[in-house]
Amino acid sequence: MKVIGISGNKKLLDGFNRDYVFDHYSTCIDKIGAVPLILPITDKKEVAKVYIDKIDALIMTGGIDVNPFLYNEEPTKETEVPFTKRDTFDFILIEAALEKHIPILGICRGMQIINVYFGGSLHQDIKYYGETNIQHVQRSNHHEPIHFVDIKKDSTLFTLIGTKQKVNSVHHQCINKLGAGLVASAVSSSDKIIEAYESNGTNKILGIQWHPEMMFAQGNHEMENIFNFLVK
Ligand code: MN
Repeated sequence: MKVIGISGNKKLLDGFNRDYVFDHYSTCIDKIGAVPLILPITDKKEVAKVYIDKIDALIMTGGIDVNPFLYNEEPTKETEVPFTKRDTFDFILIEAALEKHIPILGICRGMQIINVYFGGSLHQDIKYYGETNIQHVQRSNHHEPIHFVDIKKDSTLFTLIGTKQKVNSVHHQCINKLGAGLVASAVSSSDKIIEAYESNGTNKILGIQWHPEMMFAQGNHEMENIFNFLVK
């Protein structure tokens, strides 16, 4: 069975720091018949390399905003207080995964930080992108779809989930400049915000702005093939 690494997070709860991640990710990996392996935050590259040696593919998970200094901007008032340990961990984990050429699926923050790793930037709030009338921070339950995305026909994502989808949306930031070697493969239908990208090089990288793990974990089978990308 293939082993899928899931980048971990850390949080203070009841007076103790916990290594944790939402269980949608492991639920999805279990559903596709692979083995989920949660990877705790470390600041040691050699530890990240051992993690990568144990896995066949990697999910970079969602979470708080990336520190804007990583793309040479100062934080605006909308940006969350950064979590430096996690930013550092995510960077060394991405670097180690790229060295071993394993497939990487970035979801939400995971998608955003991979973009920043490759020299891209983010709009620190969607209002800096421009006017939009749709809900990128949805008010309904987070596994329910809330807006359409248009998927480019010549993309890997198209081969996985087709040309148009209804997706959920829980992000207040979005891609500004794409990083080197990344091409947009889906945009929000009404306002054209980049909702997915992939690598145009030899690395297997798929970045998704919405949360397919919440949708698939709750029974939406349209999103299953996004996870099959990790094991094919
Ligand atoms: Mn969205």
